[in-house]
Amino acid sequence: MACGPPQGQSLSGPELPRGWATIRSTHHVWLIYIKLLAMISAMPAEIHLKLGEGRISGYLSALLGLCAFGGVLCYHFPEALTTAELRAAYDPEVLREVLYWVLVVASVSGALNFLFEHGRKAAIVGLTSCLAAVVCGGSRVEATGAPASPLAIGLDWLILGLLVSALVFIPIEKAWPYRRKQPILRKEWWTDFQYFAINSLLVSYILLVTVKAVPVTMTWAVSDTLQATVRSWPFAVQFIAAVICADLAQYWMHRCYHSKLMWKIHAVHHSAIAMDWLAGSRIHFVEMLLTRVSILSVLFLVGFSEAPMEAYIVLVGLQAVFIHANVGINFGVLNYLVATPQFHQWHHSDDREAADTNFAVHLPVIDLIFGTFRIPKGQWPKSLGVIGPPVPSGIVRQAIYPFRKS
Ligand SMILES: [Zn+2]
Ligand SMILES: [Zn+2]
Repeated sequence: MACGPPQGQSLSGPELPRGWATIRSTHHVWLIYIKLLAMISAMPAEIHLKLGEGRISGYLSALLGLCAFGGVLCYHFPEALTTAELRAAYDPEVLREVLYWVLVVASVSGALNFLFEHGRKAAIVGLTSCLAAVVCGGSRVEATGAPASPLAIGLDWLILGLLVSALVFIPIEKAWPYRRKQPILRKEWWTDFQYFAINSLLVSYILLVTVKAVPVTMTWAVSDTLQATVRSWPFAVQFIAAVICADLAQYWMHRCYHSKLMWKIHAVHHSAIAMDWLAGSRIHFVEMLLTRVSILSVLFLVGFSEAPMEAYIVLVGLQAVFIHANVGINFGVLNYLVATPQFHQWHHSDDREAADTNFAVHLPVIDLIFGTFRIPKGQWPKSLGVIGPPVPSGIVRQAIYPFRKS
């Protein structure tokens, strides 16, 4: 599988200072990247970042430095590290500008941390990543322009998804939090980040199994008349119809997951005891594939056009993150129209009275119709988690949990 750079291939960048030539071997570059990631993963399980303590600049430097280093590697090996679907949506030259500013902010925040806080581990990771990124070409790295392979690792998907999600949702969570004392790097954040990272890195494979497999297996059930009728509808009508169809499919799949037979798979998602923009990523791989195949099968059979389907995919991406976010806004009557954090976090409550309620992801009216809607007026759940036997912690133990005898 051509998912890594060819051994011995050189990284082209600006003229290197003497002594840095050894880093030109990709073998060394990959080892450095993995080593830096390992240093971050060895951080404490829960980290309180407070203004004035110097930790924020260190972690900001680490996050941005690792993203910049990864971004430079994407320019060097687009065929192995970028996804065709995402590349169609961005301009590499615009991202080069972004890369420049990411490097500047990462370097300055890392240097400040070093100067005033005597250099913490996160700042060392950030500055080392920046240095490695610059040595490998920095924002002046040459793009090879090679097409993405269908089996590429989605490093571009991970970096852009992480930066955009963090940039949008962390400020919202800080401005209108429900749990004010919950830190950004709260307990089990690393587990949820691993789900986020694996789903992003394997996005090409997930698309292969879902988006490409559905037409192959479902073509026999297609009604040309139905599809022609649906495609004659205006964009807005098709989009609303797609959201309704998808959420109806999701609602009933979700109810199946709450049955005794499938609960252990879905319990992994419910095992999160803190909600934020990262928590929704915690979904067992079987559930993720089953849900996507079910929803896409329905949408494929109805036969929506490409544009409303793309709009639906953007909506589901945003709403799946939003409903898990630590956002304490009381949306009032909107709670009945669209799924909100308050609506979905009641679904995650460990209160037995809240069990088996609020299954929808987009439209709470579906729960109203089927009698499963529940939001006690003006209230939020006191605590979150599974009802019943606990789920083990850690992504590997959670992956095998449903298949082990209790
Ligand atoms: Zn559930
Ligand atoms: Zn959820």
